[in-house]
Parts: sequence; C-alpha cells; structure tokens
Amino acid sequence: MTNQSIREAAAGLFPGGVNSPVRSYRSVGGDPLPIVRGAGPYVFDADGARYIDYVGGFGPAILGHARPEVTRAIAEAAADGLAFGALGPREVELAAVIRDATGLERLRFLNSGTEATMTAIRIARAATGRDLVVKFDGCYHGHSDGLLVRAGSGVATLGMSDSAGVPQAVAGLTAVLPYNDPAALIRWFDAHPADTAAVIVESIPANVGILAPDPEFLQVLQAVPRAHGALLIADEIITGFRLARGLSGVLPAADLVTLGKIIGGGLPIGAIGGPARLLGLLAPEGPVYQAGTFSANPAVMAAGLATLQLLTPAAYQRLEQVARHLENGLRTAIRRAEAPASVVRYGSMLSLFFRPEPPRDYAQAREADTAAFARFHRAMRARGVLIPPSQFETWFVSLAHNEPEIDATVCAAAEALREACP
Ligand code: PLP
Repeated sequence: MTNQSIREAAAGLFPGGVNSPVRSYRSVGGDPLPIVRGAGPYVFDADGARYIDYVGGFGPAILGHARPEVTRAIAEAAADGLAFGALGPREVELAAVIRDATGLERLRFLNSGTEATMTAIRIARAATGRDLVVKFDGCYHGHSDGLLVRAGSGVATLGMSDSAGVPQAVAGLTAVLPYNDPAALIRWFDAHPADTAAVIVESIPANVGILAPDPEFLQVLQAVPRAHGALLIADEIITGFRLARGLSGVLPAADLVTLGKIIGGGLPIGAIGGPARLLGLLAPEGPVYQAGTFSANPAVMAAGLATLQLLTPAAYQRLEQVARHLENGLRTAIRRAEAPASVVRYGSMLSLFFRPEPPRDYAQAREADTAAFARFHRAMRARGVLIPPSQFETWFVSLAHNEPEIDATVCAAAEALREACP
C-alpha cells in the first residue's frame, strides 16, 4: 500500500480518516502521514520516505523506535499468552520498579492516561466528599467528560464544555483557571473554600507547547488547595520518567500522581500512584469503582519493564546532552534567520513557538503564528524531519537520537525557518 491508498481506505473507514484527531495533519494543512515502521530515531512512511522523528509517539518512545530489548520482551510475554484477567508476575515487577523510582506507595495500572486522570478525580471526590475540580487553561488530561472543559466567561467561574456531547451539568463541576496565575487560584479558593475536591495540573504543561511554570505559582499550587482540604493531582503522564528516572520533582507535595506513556514502553497504559490511604479507596479495598479487562496486560508490563531497565541515570544525562545540542542549534538558526520564534526545553521535551517570547499561559500560546508553524512543518518534512503536526504539541528527543541526526535537524531548520518566515 502507498501513502495515498492507505489515506483513501482510511477516509472511508474512520471519522476524518484517523483514529485520533491530531493525526489528521489538519492544523498543518496536510493529509495524514501513514507510518509503517520505525527504527531508532527514524520513522518510514508507506512510500518509503525516511524521517528523523520528534513525534516520539507523542511521548512514549523515549528509547527511539523498535528497541530490540523491548520488542523481545513483548514477544516473550506474548508467547506466554496475553489475556488472563488475573494477577500476574510482571505487574508486580513493574510496580516495584516504579515505586522504587518514585516513592509512590501504592499504584493502580489502567489502560490510558485518560483513565488515570478520570479515576484520580474519582478518588479525590470520594476522599473529600466534594464535587468541584480545578484545572488550568491549556493543560490536557485526556478526554473524559469532566476534563474536556474550557474557561467560563470570567476568571474563577465554573467551566463550559469544550466538546459537543459533554453535558453542561458535568462541565459545570470543573473550573478552568489561567496557568501561572497564583492570584486566580487564591481567588478561587476564597470563593469556594469548602467545595473543591481536587486541583489537577500537568507538572510541566506540554499540550499547548511547553509552558514554563513560575516558582511562585508552584508554591501556591502546593499550599493553597491543601490549606482548604483539596487534593493536588500532578499529571505526570508526559513528564514521568521523561525528565528523570521517576517523577519530575516539580510538585513534590502532590497527593496523587498520574503516569502513562513511557511506563508502558510503547503499549497502552496509564497508572495512578499515591499513599495507601488514598489508593486504598479503590475497589476491591474501598468504595471507588474502577476496573479494566486489559489492565496490567502482560505484554504492556513487559514493555514497560524493559524500557525502565534501560532508563539509567546515565541515560538521562545523555538525553539532556543531546536535547541541549538541539536547543542550541535551533536558537542559532532562529537568530540567523531573524525569525520571530522562541524555544523552550525541559530535558528531552522541546517546543519551538512562532512567537518571539515563550508563552507563560494558554492565552499567550494561542498568539503563536500557526500559519508560520504549518509552513515550517511542511518545510521540515520535505527535508526528512518529522516534528509533531501542531504548534501545540511537544517535540520529544529519544536516546536513539545522536549528534548526526541533531545536526541534520538543525540544518533543515535553518532552511525551513527562512521558508516559514520569509
Ligand atoms: N495527560 C497528559 C498530560 C497527556 O499529555 C495525555 C495525552 O497526551 C493524557 C493525559 C491522556 O493520555 P491518553 O492519551 O493515554 O489517554
């Protein structure tokens, strides 16, 4: 099959021709790019073109693609049988590795990040006996009803549904506040001192490009909800095991943590971690119901274990070094092209914004020149570099990226920036 024949078949099978919206490439004015294979830092499309990949599966592919230790572990697990609906040895092993790396006392494995955040909120509501949840504008926590919510008409008002099909009665239980605005959070708790079950936040927001958290905001985030009896949920689905072996360390006072992506080694996963007093609220120990046919599936556990075994402290040093090389190269290219663009990087996560200064919040991120980004995306792709198909998705560097790939990326970017910002 060719790129075109796959697209045509998909168009008749799937809404919008894809199984997840950003894969449509609509925000960069293109068609879906069918990927047939990955190897190390590269992916290959159905026409045989090779790209240096910074999509990284939107986060999980920290080792690069098709790392033999991981594919072997999956094959071995599969050979033992895949679906028992029973406790097994690999989930115990993976949980012990995660507990040792994160300090999280108890865990539950689920099948996606969406399930993890949805269930974390259910636990928080049960623990507090309260209904309201606070999230931040621009943070993404998956597609459950209560989290597909946008800001209402004023700061410190309850939210409005951000998707057709989400009842206002559900959206109205979630408040959406501006990120990096400690005063807004304080105002919220002044107005709702005893109704808020939880505040949920990405440890480093990475779903509108990367937003750098202000230290003062992080301080208020960790003090004010707690002072009012609300729980803090740190969404580490991107940042967990991405920035360090374990949690990012950005929100050490969080009550509950959600994980996903990397801990499944490229297979579907989510996890919730926290103290026994909160995780013990989950069935069958406690009254909060959550279950899953595929939860802690042996192949997923095997992929996660093989991946985390390779993520040594030296691996993170290497990721830092390679990603810094990319950051420096992109900054130089931007300066030379005199492009109105900026770069933000944390470890192996990076954003290139078509905006002279990195944004502090979603309102500023939205000011980025998405048309220039679309031109840049196309120009990079024409030069064999695949960056995420949206200004608002984060680039991921993997352990398989080496200096030659980074140098080739920077060369491509130097030309692509001139095309994007003529
Ligand atoms: N939380 C964050 C921070 C995410 O980036 C994502 C997905 O990108 C999710 C939650 C949802 O995870 P999933 O797509 O596995 O449901």
